[in-house]
Amino acid sequence: MLKIYNTLSGKKEEFVPIDKNGKNVNMYVCGITSYDEVHLGHARCYVVFDVIRRYLGYKGYAVKYIQNFTDIDDKIINRSNELQITSNDLAEKYINDYFTQMRKLNVLDADAYPKVTEKIPEIIEFIKKIIDTGYGYVAEGDVYFSVRKFKDYGKLSKRNVDDLKSGARILPGENKNDPLDFALWKKTKEGEPYWDSPWGKGRPGWHIECSAMSLGEFGFNTFDIHGGGHDLIFPHHENEIAQSEAALGRPFVKYWIHNGFVTINKEKMSKSLGNFFTLREIYKKYDPMIVRYMLLSQHYRQPLDFSENKLEQAKNAYQRIVNAVRKTDGIKDDISAEQKFIDCLDDDFNTPQALAIIHNLIDKNNLKTLLKLCDIIGLIVDIKTEIPDTIKKLTKQREQARKDKNWHLADEIREKIKKEGFEIEDTKLGPKINKL
Ligand SMILES: [Zn+2]
Repeated sequence: MLKIYNTLSGKKEEFVPIDKNGKNVNMYVCGITSYDEVHLGHARCYVVFDVIRRYLGYKGYAVKYIQNFTDIDDKIINRSNELQITSNDLAEKYINDYFTQMRKLNVLDADAYPKVTEKIPEIIEFIKKIIDTGYGYVAEGDVYFSVRKFKDYGKLSKRNVDDLKSGARILPGENKNDPLDFALWKKTKEGEPYWDSPWGKGRPGWHIECSAMSLGEFGFNTFDIHGGGHDLIFPHHENEIAQSEAALGRPFVKYWIHNGFVTINKEKMSKSLGNFFTLREIYKKYDPMIVRYMLLSQHYRQPLDFSENKLEQAKNAYQRIVNAVRKTDGIKDDISAEQKFIDCLDDDFNTPQALAIIHNLIDKNNLKTLLKLCDIIGLIVDIKTEIPDTIKKLTKQREQARKDKNWHLADEIREKIKKEGFEIEDTKLGPKINKL
C-alpha cells in the first residue's frame, strides 16, 4: 500500500486515486520561470517528481503529468529589457535549456507543458469566474482576490490570516482593498508586453496561471497530486487553493507533495552568494546520472545540503552499481529484494532506503533484479561504454611506452586519458579501459 505525506493534512496518508476505477491519476507540478539556466534546485524538484510519476506507473496507474512554463513575469521582462531581446525569445531560450539539462538527468517529458502566453484566454475566463463568485474585485485595471472572504485561507501553510495581516503592506501603485489580497490580473506598465482583457490591457498575476492551467488540463475536476518545491507552499500554493476553490466550489487537489530545500555548504542557494550551481556547470565534471543518484540519496522531504564531497560519494556509490552491471552476467530474479524495494518506495517514496536495497544486490548474481530496480527509479546503469578511437590509440601508445620501460611517458599518457574521462586498469589480460 502506497503512503504519501500530504502537506495539507500534515500526515502520511494511504494513496487512493480520485478515479472511481482506481486507474487514472492526474498530477501537476509547478514548472520553471524561464529567465535563467536551470540549477540544482530545479534538478531536485523535477527528479523527485519524475520518480513519483515513474513509480505510480510501475504500480499500474495511468498518470497524466502536466508541468507549466511561466514564460512571462517581472524577472523575464527585466532580463529581456537588459539584454534587449523580446521576453518571448528569452523565455524560449531557457525553456530549451530546461529540456536539454533535464533529459540528461533522464527526467521523462510531461504529457503537456502549458505556457502562460498561450493560455491567456483561459486565464481570463478563470478570473471572470472568480469575480462572478464574489471573491475577485476590479480596481483601476487590476483584479484582486479577497483573501479574507475565503474562510479556509492558510489551511495548507498552517498560517492564520490575522498573523499575516501584521506583516502585510500595500505597495505604491497597488489598488487593493486589503494588504493580504493578491493580484489575479495586473494592469500593464510602460514598456511591458500586454494582452487585452475585460478590465483593460495587462497580464495575469503569477498564482492564477497554475490554477487555470492545471484545472484546464484536468477538465475542471479536483485532481490527485499537486507538487512543487517547499518554498512554493506559501504564498503560491495557498493562493492557488483559495482562488481555485472559490471558483469551483469544491476541493482543488487531494494530495499536496513538496520537496525540501537545496542548500550549498549549509547556505541557501542564491546568486549573490555565488553558489548558484547550474546543471550545465556540474555536468562538466560529473555525469548527470551521478547527479540523479545524489538527489535520490536523500529523502525528498529532507533538506539536501549539496557539496562537492556529496557528489564524490554519489559518484563512488553509483560507480559500484555500474561496475557490478559490467562484471556480472547473472540472470537470476530476486523477488524478495524487489518486494523490499517496493516497501521502501511505498513508504512515502523512500529512495535512500531503496538505493540501499540495490546495493545489497551487488555481487549476488541477480543482475536482472538490479537492473529492474534501477529502471523503476530512472537510474541508467546499463551503460555499454563506447571507447573513442583516440582513447584506444593512446592506450596502445601507453602499452608501447611500458614495453620500452618509459614509465614517465606511460604516466603522462595515463593522465591524458584520464582528462578525457577514462581510466586504464592494468589486468593480467592487458589494459582495460573504464569510463570515469
Ligand atoms: Zn505553480
